Amino acid sequence: MRKPPTVDELYRLRHSTAHVMAQAVKHLFPETKIAIGPPTEDGFYYDFDRDTPFTPEDLAAIEEEMKKSIAADDPFVCREIGREEAIRFFEERNEPYKVELIHDIPEGEPITLYQNGDFIDLCRGPHVARTGEIKAFKLLHVAGAYWRGDERNKMLQRIYGTAFFSQAELEEHLHRLEEARRRDHRRLGRELGIFLIAPEVGAGLPIWLPKGAIVRETLVEFMREEQRRRGYLPVITPHLAKVDLYKLSGHWYTYRDKMFPAMQADHEEFVLKPMNCPFHIQVYRSELRSYRDLPIRLAEFGTVYRYEQSGELGGLTRVRGFTQDDAHLFCRPDQLLDEFRGVVDLVILVLRRLGLPFRARVGVRDTDSEKYVGTPEQWEQAQQAILAAVQSLAMPHFVAEGEAAFYGPKLDFLVEDALGREWQLGTIQVDYVLPERFDLTYMGDDGQQHRPVMIHRAPFGSLERFIGILIEHYAGAFPLWLAPVQVRLIPIADRHVDYCRAVCIRLQEAGLRAEVDERNEKIGYKIRQAQLEKIPYMLVVGDREVESGQVAVRSREAGDRGAVPVEAFLDQVRAEVWGGTPCH
Ligand SMILES: [Zn+2]
Ligand SMILES: [Zn+2]
Repeated sequence: MRKPPTVDELYRLRHSTAHVMAQAVKHLFPETKIAIGPPTEDGFYYDFDRDTPFTPEDLAAIEEEMKKSIAADDPFVCREIGREEAIRFFEERNEPYKVELIHDIPEGEPITLYQNGDFIDLCRGPHVARTGEIKAFKLLHVAGAYWRGDERNKMLQRIYGTAFFSQAELEEHLHRLEEARRRDHRRLGRELGIFLIAPEVGAGLPIWLPKGAIVRETLVEFMREEQRRRGYLPVITPHLAKVDLYKLSGHWYTYRDKMFPAMQADHEEFVLKPMNCPFHIQVYRSELRSYRDLPIRLAEFGTVYRYEQSGELGGLTRVRGFTQDDAHLFCRPDQLLDEFRGVVDLVILVLRRLGLPFRARVGVRDTDSEKYVGTPEQWEQAQQAILAAVQSLAMPHFVAEGEAAFYGPKLDFLVEDALGREWQLGTIQVDYVLPERFDLTYMGDDGQQHRPVMIHRAPFGSLERFIGILIEHYAGAFPLWLAPVQVRLIPIADRHVDYCRAVCIRLQEAGLRAEVDERNEKIGYKIRQAQLEKIPYMLVVGDREVESGQVAVRSREAGDRGAVPVEAFLDQVRAEVWGGTPCH
């Protein structure tokens, strides 16, 4: 077996395929002007200026034309050329974009052309030796793209494609693309009734529909319960505050480009809150604290508003208003290790419960100590506490120099979803700066005032983004404990409805989310609907079930499981909800 290609080899191959594609486009549509065609992380593209839009049929024809060049096994030949000659060359061929690019090449830098077959492009290279090395490629889709990414420029047509050294690798990649489309949370969010983005409300401001709200509240309840158990105290704070608060915290100076503009009322300026921390600090400051009071752990599902560029908004992963499962821990320096370990332990519990594999990134400072605040001793102590915590919990982790915040080191959790994509979730940060800025103190056992240390933590991070990731990870099929509808009863005929209603009430009383499909539809249709909605359990009820006091169980994963007494089903499902393992 050949060893897997390096990134460089893949870039070379894909860049070469982009040239072959441009060559094919020029063969088939000679009036087209060519712009740029670089490799990307998982493929390549080339931008074309052509009045008629490329159709899927055009893409198929271009692919066929490309195959001819590949079969010809043309060499890629490089040649250096003078500036004037290069400009003349592309002017003669009526390629104004290339001429513009040449004008931008700094004086003294070599200008090179690459030729394959009859196609010559302005290019820095590098390329594969011959077109025959392109063993597997596919053109994927067309999208609009402004010349040089500037919306004042002409909109060009960008053809995306990808290439690999083997057909098997290409097919694997196409399969992953298809899976990503199938799992896309924007599509599933709409189909499953999870959330809504209404243009009338605004981009980046999702509305939670009933089923999504159930998922979200279930997660919140789970977290609330765990926090209660660990001595967190709930607080609730407003969505607006005076600008002065954020001047004191420093956010107004360092974070302003992410804040919505201030608004005026009663001769005062207010701003939507981008962070919960300054509010929780007010709670700490509201009383005199002694060393005996610490640690104090304040938790809030706090909604914050952050200004994101409108072009960057999409689904739940980038939004302008979102809710954090936020908490701030105020502790003595000697409590830092235990508190940090407690938080890490909670995050691990959450990620295990959700079946998300993870690793942790320990963000420590780099050698350029200028940009950090706090003393070297504080940093050393905090970094040691973080490392000791992750080591004592035997979790996979790595140290990343320079990934610390300017006010303290941090721990980021990176989870891997079902497609192997890595997402950064919750963060735990140690902070020496805010206690300083707000002059937080506690009375030590020595009768002196001391400065507490603060820990910021949000295991889910943003609930919006987290649920977006969960939808894609589960492909919409939430585990039983999170599923908006856990059990749907399906009566075969009208005369079975009353029995179904009685069973449904029994299940609801036991704490399950159950409902009866009373619609006047065929049984096959109802089962199919429940499957599309990804409901974990369907209970089908006919004469036999009514007579014997049973239900016929169909599970989303295992299909038909036969008839069981209602109470037996209930016991199994309850065990599955609390135990987390399906009862096949
Ligand atoms: Zn090139
Ligand atoms: Zn915070």
